[in-house]
Amino acid sequence: MTYDPNNIFARILRGEIPCKKVYEDSHVLAFHDVNPQAPTHVLVIPKGAYVSFDDFSAKASADEITAFVRAAGQIARDLGAAEPGYRILANTGLNGGQEVPHFHLHLFAGRRLGRMIAAD
Ligand code: AMP
Repeated sequence: MTYDPNNIFARILRGEIPCKKVYEDSHVLAFHDVNPQAPTHVLVIPKGAYVSFDDFSAKASADEITAFVRAAGQIARDLGAAEPGYRILANTGLNGGQEVPHFHLHLFAGRRLGRMIAAD
């Protein structure tokens, strides 16, 4: 899949659409989801133009991957979620239910999150 530079997260990265930012560094931006599914629901995105986890894992540089993973863990700690725990999720492609075609991790916290996969 070709990266769409007008997807909503690309527009957030360019500052064309506001977000409730929780973290930013040279490789990563994180902000609150507009439609939270848990008391804490944060999206962590790379600044690079990657469509999905599949794309990011195949093409991102080691520096980008390291920065992304480190940032995701730090954000969870900064939100006070490391204890008692949280869930990270990357919907990928059609079967994964991905809606926004810019790779993002969902970080859910703030309550017991129940079963791993909801029935459809
Ligand atoms: P996914 O289905 O994994 O692609 O998730 C996309 C997520 O982006 C959903 O949870 C949406 O609520 C969220 N979302 C869409 N637009 C925005 C926005 N402008 N700011 C923050 N979150 C958004």
